[in-house]
Amino acid sequence: MKTSDASRFPETWAVSGAETLENYIDGSWVRSTATGHLDVPDPSSGKLLARVPRSGASDVDTAVRAARRAFPLWREVPVAERARRVLALRNLLEARSEELARSVVRENGKTLEEARGSVRRGVEATEFAASAPTTLQGSFLEDVSPGVDTTLLRQPVGVVAGITPFNFPVMIPLWMAPLALVCGNCFILKPSERVPLSATLLARWVGEAGFPAGTFNLVHGDAAAVDALLAHPGVDAVSFVGSAPTARHIYTTAAAHGKRVQALAGAKNHLIVMPDADLDRSVPAIVSSAFGQSGERCLSGSVVVAVEPGADRLVARLAEAISQLTTGPASDPRTNVGPVIRSDHRERVLRWIRDGEAMGAKVVARGPVPPDADGYYVPPVLFDQVRPEMAIAQEEIFGPVLSVIRASSLDEAIEVANRSRFGNAAAIFTRDGRAARTFTHRIEAGMLGVNIGVPAPAAYFPFVGWKGSFYGDLHATGRDAVDFYTRKKVVTTRWF
Ligand code: NAD
Repeated sequence: MKTSDASRFPETWAVSGAETLENYIDGSWVRSTATGHLDVPDPSSGKLLARVPRSGASDVDTAVRAARRAFPLWREVPVAERARRVLALRNLLEARSEELARSVVRENGKTLEEARGSVRRGVEATEFAASAPTTLQGSFLEDVSPGVDTTLLRQPVGVVAGITPFNFPVMIPLWMAPLALVCGNCFILKPSERVPLSATLLARWVGEAGFPAGTFNLVHGDAAAVDALLAHPGVDAVSFVGSAPTARHIYTTAAAHGKRVQALAGAKNHLIVMPDADLDRSVPAIVSSAFGQSGERCLSGSVVVAVEPGADRLVARLAEAISQLTTGPASDPRTNVGPVIRSDHRERVLRWIRDGEAMGAKVVARGPVPPDADGYYVPPVLFDQVRPEMAIAQEEIFGPVLSVIRASSLDEAIEVANRSRFGNAAAIFTRDGRAARTFTHRIEAGMLGVNIGVPAPAAYFPFVGWKGSFYGDLHATGRDAVDFYTRKKVVTTRWF
């Protein structure tokens, strides 16, 4: 989590100044027809970086028409050639990964080390997409009846819309666009209006990598642009990542319009710590899980379930580690915890902290307040004596707040975690293989860590939220995503 690179940030940026951003449609940069825009501040300072247009139905319609025109030509490009364009994009991303990481630092508030890690994950997803000549293969079965054979083919779905959240400005668009494109689809990205700058860089480079006009389009905006995509008859499938209420809206609305949809939602992840856990290694992993990226990760640990005996020892170690975390500007190499995304989000997190105290939970550690008050800073907080029914133990806070619940046994700890309406991730810290096995067998969450605080699956595995953390059938990334971005066709053949 700590930024080790002491290099200073350049004065100039690839996307700089308070310009109003343009959409990228049909291979050209075009002004939105919308009159309204939103400010994009730097969360570390509150200073204006850019303005993002609130694109509406007519911008979306222009993008969808461009994508529909490009689709019949693009799907005929041989898969190996499509994969070559993805590889070209991957090479551009790799060569310019530092520029991309610094863009993420600037608009999102991750530290440089965190931003670099997120860009690397995006590059890995692009590498997985490039393996399409293998992953797109169908299957063949000879003699399903005498002289009759069956072939299963995969074909593109058509036009895919990708709607992404603020917390991974590069990685999540790269989970979607390269794979959707290599499968032969055309793609429209509607990035978060809170982090539109990195998406703008990506759009520049997609064109440079040789994707023909109309295959990849970028439409900036907020809910109005999203709702226009959901209602547009020219959109066949929707990939969404964001908060739980929006995910429910996207899933029900897109499905009501007859579209294929995957909607990844919010989280409340539990970290179970057994009495035998190796605290020297577990405590840094827990602290990094809860406070890395200011707790703005769908895989952030937000509840520690401390199995007795040993909770007091664990709380003391966590409190000591947390009191040493430096909160400050994302670009400062001394910073451990950067800002949260916006001032209203900071107010929301601070309200949760006040509510937690009012509910009877006890603040046992609080990181030092940063001297620069202009950014959206929330110093880390550790709550002890949290009970499972408290709202701070149930709701997603999405900030640097960690709650400790005490349990008398592993069974009780699993029960506490399974009460959550979310099921994105969970972890256990232990030296006991049997406890780990019981945990992995019984826990109701999709991404599990054993002595790992942030169990993010590699790009060739699916990102498998359960329960209220996911709406749909086929998950993002890996072979699930190949299935999501393709339709199957089964051909039964007899030659007379
Ligand atoms: P958000 O739901 O506010 O926004 C996500 C996207 O939806 C944005 O592009 C936004 O413009 C759009 N949107 C927002 N409100 C809308 C509305 N009413 N109608 C239509 N579109 C709307 O999410 P966020 O705050 O940007 O992202 C953080 C959330 O995303 C957290 O809840 C986090 O857990 C979740 N997340 C989940 C995963 C996962 O894999 N499950 C990964 C990353 C983030």
